[in-house]
Amino acid sequence: MIQFDNSYARLPDRFYARVEPSVAPAPGLIALNEPLAERLGLDAGWLKSDEGLAVLAGQARAEGSEPLAMAYAGHQFGHFVPQLGDGRAILLGEVRPEAGRRFDIQLKGSGKTPFSRGGDGNAALGPVLREYIVSEAMAALGVPTTRALAAISTGANVFRESLLPGGRVVRVAESHVRVGTFQYFAARGDVEALKALSDYVISRHYPEVAGAEQPALALLQAVVSRQATLIAQWQALGFIHGVMNTDNMSIAGETIDYGPCAFMDGFDPAQVYSSIDHHGRYAYQNQPAVGQWNLAMLAQCLLPLIDADEDEAVRLVQAAVDGFVPAFQRAYVTRFTAKLGLADVREGDVELVGGLLGVMATGAADFTLGFRLLADQIENVNQDFLDLFDGADGLGDWLERWRARLRLEGRSAGEVRAQMLGVNPLYIPRNHLVEEAIAAAYDGDFGPFHALNDVLASPFVEQAGREIYAVPPRPEQIVQQTFCGT
Ligand code: AMP
Ligand code: MG
Repeated sequence: MIQFDNSYARLPDRFYARVEPSVAPAPGLIALNEPLAERLGLDAGWLKSDEGLAVLAGQARAEGSEPLAMAYAGHQFGHFVPQLGDGRAILLGEVRPEAGRRFDIQLKGSGKTPFSRGGDGNAALGPVLREYIVSEAMAALGVPTTRALAAISTGANVFRESLLPGGRVVRVAESHVRVGTFQYFAARGDVEALKALSDYVISRHYPEVAGAEQPALALLQAVVSRQATLIAQWQALGFIHGVMNTDNMSIAGETIDYGPCAFMDGFDPAQVYSSIDHHGRYAYQNQPAVGQWNLAMLAQCLLPLIDADEDEAVRLVQAAVDGFVPAFQRAYVTRFTAKLGLADVREGDVELVGGLLGVMATGAADFTLGFRLLADQIENVNQDFLDLFDGADGLGDWLERWRARLRLEGRSAGEVRAQMLGVNPLYIPRNHLVEEAIAAAYDGDFGPFHALNDVLASPFVEQAGREIYAVPPRPEQIVQQTFCGT
């Protein structure tokens, strides 16, 4: 069984709407994430039982559950929308696996809520499986992220471009508070709610700032720092979130809301996959700047909590938001120098990283394999590596500079190689593999979905017989566009 304990439901009524999940005519368990269940202190055997499935699918209430849809606002592609909110997700409750740890269990695709606006509140199976695959892959890659506890089929169809089988994903998060949650109350001039929300977030996610002289300012600084690190991790993996609206930015610093996200194949800094990102606002290379812009929106919301003198408050939050740039740079350089097999960061390393990325961009080299196979070029160049580059101008020179830099550290090739293989994954959720798994599932075959999850659970370990999962798409397999599909 699950025992919920709901801190969010104890916040004022205007933070959410109480709502029941809709009926799923014939819920079926597609996948249960047993290791995650265990980490949450939940009994996987029970979750797989009819009773457990009924709770996961929102068809029965577990003890202490107080289902609710959270209110939030957000900037969508730069335009402020004062009311968004959970339109197709319901927070079932929070679990506490250990003292001081609390996780949200949220059901997505659970039917209409007062925040659904024009939407039906449902999810098709495709986006459910996509979120399951990619969020779990991110976790295995060591990136802070919401997790997927279960994927469920509903037995009902949903209408998108055509009729598709419906699904639900049971999502686990540190919390579902977003930058947009603060914006919801700021837009209403509700300073009392902002204070309550800020206190809540501090006690749940940033207890270390509770004693600060200016807790709201310290909170902002802490969120800036977590987001800077998070986005640096995305960059280091070639991950493109796709919809970095302020309502899709977690206050706890987790990657959240997997829609048209994608890992890059060939490296192109301007890469965009999302079908709705017409101007490339959320292109790979724009992610850091957009992250900082989102944090500036958060900063604005916090002004009334920081200083009665608005000029002084603005000066303080501006400095905090400016702190994003050095924090991101530090995290970025640390990640990328580690990818190059370096033990520390020295002068000139930023240029060294940039040099390789430049050659990779010119040669449209596969981002993931470019770094992975670099571990085999410490002493000699091999053909597999060269074959990744469509034109390798400058590559020879770069490799010489890199080797000279490695020699400065005097570590053995074996040691350097081991480090590189531990940070440069071999397996990522490649877009064409994700699409294939979804297509097979729509045909009733969940084999490819399970097989893909299995490979991605150990992204840094070469797995015999699974070579196909590491290979970039053939030209006809390349996915050019991804869709929200909601
Ligand atoms: P997202 O694309 O996940 O960032 O969602 C943006 C907003 O649209 C959120 O308020 C969602 O709850 C809402 N939304 C997205 N899809 C649906 C849907 N099928 N039904 C109702 N609301 C939705
Ligand atoms: Mg969203």
